[in-house]
Amino acid sequence: MKNFEGFGLNHALSKSLEHMKYTTPTPIQAQAIPFALGGHDIMGTAQTGTGKTAAFAIPLVEKLLSNPRGSALVLTPTRELGKQIMDIMHQLLGPKSPIKTAFIIGGEPMGKQLRQLRARPRLIVGTPGRINDHLERGSMMLHDTHFLVLDETDRMLDMGFSVQLERIFKYMPDKRQTLMFSATLPNNILKLSEKYLNNPKRIAVGETNVVATNIKQDVIRIEQDKKYNELMSQLYERNGSVIVFVKTKYNADKMAKNLRRDGFTSEALHGDLRQNKRDKVMQNFRKMNFRVLIATDIAARGLDVPHIEHVINYDLPQVAEDFIHRMGRTARAGAEGSAVSFVSNQDGRKWHAIERLLNPQAANDKGSHARPARNNQNRNRSGGKKRFYRGKKKAA
Ligand code: AMP
Repeated sequence: MKNFEGFGLNHALSKSLEHMKYTTPTPIQAQAIPFALGGHDIMGTAQTGTGKTAAFAIPLVEKLLSNPRGSALVLTPTRELGKQIMDIMHQLLGPKSPIKTAFIIGGEPMGKQLRQLRARPRLIVGTPGRINDHLERGSMMLHDTHFLVLDETDRMLDMGFSVQLERIFKYMPDKRQTLMFSATLPNNILKLSEKYLNNPKRIAVGETNVVATNIKQDVIRIEQDKKYNELMSQLYERNGSVIVFVKTKYNADKMAKNLRRDGFTSEALHGDLRQNKRDKVMQNFRKMNFRVLIATDIAARGLDVPHIEHVINYDLPQVAEDFIHRMGRTARAGAEGSAVSFVSNQDGRKWHAIERLLNPQAANDKGSHARPARNNQNRNRSGGKKRFYRGKKKAA
């Protein structure tokens, strides 16, 4: 499919796409949209930054516009991701749309959500915990919700939402269309899809265990107590917006403060911040009011900020799959990005798990000290730096 016209979309939706400057469907959109418009369930895997949101949002909005009744529900793991989805939905619906929406996430006052729910929204986007609360107190009905999207399903399960998800499904009609997206396909996802999806079309864009190839990656072997100084020299060397991943909320705050002291504009983003503070931090980062965002994994999941040029893994992630998600914060929609990972001598196990995920064959062949196959073992001037992987430039 060369452009969106071939999908025969509603006039208002085509206008919105034009306005958003979406002219050509990305590969995941070209695969998913015809199946979704045709009423099929979908089990989709796609790397972040591939245009996954519009792949489900376009058919969802088309269904709402072409049917006078019925509603749709989108479940997402985090508030930030939910907000991005809601923004895309509003752009697709257009400014004068009569279709009401509700944004139902944890950590926000109930009053506004109750008002939105009383207005009979036809589109609900939210996180499983709060949606469950509303269902249980009777403030939300899903008996007429025939279109369900599960976004970043692997993450929702990692965050312990599986019980809530199963409860939500019970409130929905059995006869429904379900689109499930996940960056990875571990067994628990496959089981969930077998149980709740009806003969799904399987779509995948790229390999799900690889980092987008337009990201230049470096690894720095470093002692724990030298990391902060190395971070500063990395920030001096690089231009543009940077996201730095750390392990704990406490460290995120401390590092943002230290970097400000050392002359870098910096803010922290983590799950302990109040929602309005999180929104403000993201707003300022998007507007480039500061340069360095220090984030924990959960807070940063799925963030779409096109101008992030560098990802720095100050601490390695607890879960190897998060490495791929972190990388997905840069090189969005085909742009180029770069990433550097600090690996200390305490990180052996975690690093090996990441290597195995990125390149299982090489890790098995070479034993526990294996590096990904493309490792060229280059050492540069800092002695400990090795470039282990540099992909070819390719549109994501
Ligand atoms: P996503 O993977 O959904 O987070 O999308 C990644 C980025 O690609 C976002 O900034 C989208 O606005 C952008 N995008 C998605 N689909 C298209 C398209 N068909 N044309 C241009 N940009 C797109």
